[in-house]
Amino acid sequence: MNIQFHNTLSGKKEDFQPIRAGEILMYTCGPTVYDYAHIGNFRTFVFEDLLHRFLEFHFREIKDFKVNHVMNITDVDDKTIAGANRDGIPLAQYTKKYEDAFIEDLKTLNIKLPTVMPHAADEKEIQSMIQLVAKLIGNNHAYVKEGSVYFRISEFKNYGKLSKKDLAQNITGARVDVDEYDKEVGADFVLWKATKEGEPSWDSPWGKGRPGWHLECSSMSMKHLAETIDIHAGGEDLIFPHHENEIAQSEAATGKPFVKYWLHAKHLLVNGEKMSKSKGNFFTLRDLLAKKDKSGKFYDKMAIKYALLSTHYRTQLNFTFELLEEAKENIKKLDDCYFKCLSVAALGVEREANVASKKDFENHPKLSGLREYTTKMAEALQDDLNISVALANLFEVLREINSWFPGSIAIDGSQLRGVIFFFKLIDDLFGLDVSVINSVPERVIEMLMKIIEFRRKKEFGPADQIRKQINDETGWLVKDGRPGEPSTVKKKRRTWD
Ligand code: AMP
Ligand code: ZN
Repeated sequence: MNIQFHNTLSGKKEDFQPIRAGEILMYTCGPTVYDYAHIGNFRTFVFEDLLHRFLEFHFREIKDFKVNHVMNITDVDDKTIAGANRDGIPLAQYTKKYEDAFIEDLKTLNIKLPTVMPHAADEKEIQSMIQLVAKLIGNNHAYVKEGSVYFRISEFKNYGKLSKKDLAQNITGARVDVDEYDKEVGADFVLWKATKEGEPSWDSPWGKGRPGWHLECSSMSMKHLAETIDIHAGGEDLIFPHHENEIAQSEAATGKPFVKYWLHAKHLLVNGEKMSKSKGNFFTLRDLLAKKDKSGKFYDKMAIKYALLSTHYRTQLNFTFELLEEAKENIKKLDDCYFKCLSVAALGVEREANVASKKDFENHPKLSGLREYTTKMAEALQDDLNISVALANLFEVLREINSWFPGSIAIDGSQLRGVIFFFKLIDDLFGLDVSVINSVPERVIEMLMKIIEFRRKKEFGPADQIRKQINDETGWLVKDGRPGEPSTVKKKRRTWD
């Protein structure tokens, strides 16, 4: 089965064929670093993380396969300049704070960092942008007006092909200078803005000025990846004018298709409404992490990631605190199952670090059900990242693994090594950070063995004493099994542990 993605350009699901063997060229529009990123932004960045991880997962058997992923940092535009001026500090100082916070937030959510993150205000990037503008003036696709440069949309056949706007009759020759606009009327958009009082500027053949926002993504995508790339992604708000203008700038310069597959995530709502500060339903990631649930525990970062991940990217995601509670329960199930396997492996002879075994996962006869569900999970993701079906299959796997434990004596080490490999595989795929702990400390295992022995003899007092000692002293927790299951241990690492 081929991968299929819904391509905004054709409006259809299409077979995905990479341009190059062994590498995917992918560009995602990065943040405008004028404020902390909100959970709507992270809905899109989490979708892009899944896309990145899924491509690596799908092509994992190809030697040296890589997703070459570029994400820009917009650190000079109308909004960042306004923010720096409002605070009375230099632009670079203003944007650095929010860029650092953004990178920290990506790490918090275990989002893979892109291969390259170029900055719009970087001197070298500005020079590349100037060269692109010069090329567009040279081939009559752009013109200079009072020190600014505009893209002449009447010269670009198919302007509107991505956003499906029929702008041909509406081209008035009007010009627009701001970065963000939502006009039904096609206007010549600004490539290079003549310098203004209170704005940073760079020298150019047209006088001092700064780039328009749309220009950076065309320039960086072609410079850091190629003139034609596989995938360009972002939130749906970027389709017009941003991505439409990127196509115009790039294709007018090269005469080649700019991007093969355009993928856009639908916007997130909170309690059914558009997020807005005035409605009190606006959350940055940091706001959520500082909040507590009904039981008085902080919300966990992976529960937040799960909540953002679990709705298909082209379906409206309605963020609610109930959704976050459900996400928490699902992360708990994943954690509990993983640590049960790791503990039982450690109670046997599998005490050495990282016992994951690919060979056992692929061959152990008792893992055939797991392999079937894993195939179904992979096939669901091949179908335009059908995350709901993929996660449903993941929980079928957990159900199956959990069904073994009442007879856990019969689980052999290689079966568990295969399962631990499975957890590593799905962690690579979903980035939910379940299986990072690879072994149980010797001391904890010895104490756990004593608990099991006391419980077998129905000596609950001494068993409880050791349990308390593990819980208080080791950073691990004891979990009693259901009837017939052994007690197991779990590393304390979530907010609810
Ligand atoms: P920005 O920092 O505004 O340039 O946005 C960064 C990314 O977040 C872009 O891909 C936007 O399309 C996306 N985005 C902005 N608001 C939302 C939202 N409410 N839901 C989902 N994605 C969003
Ligand atoms: Zn962009």
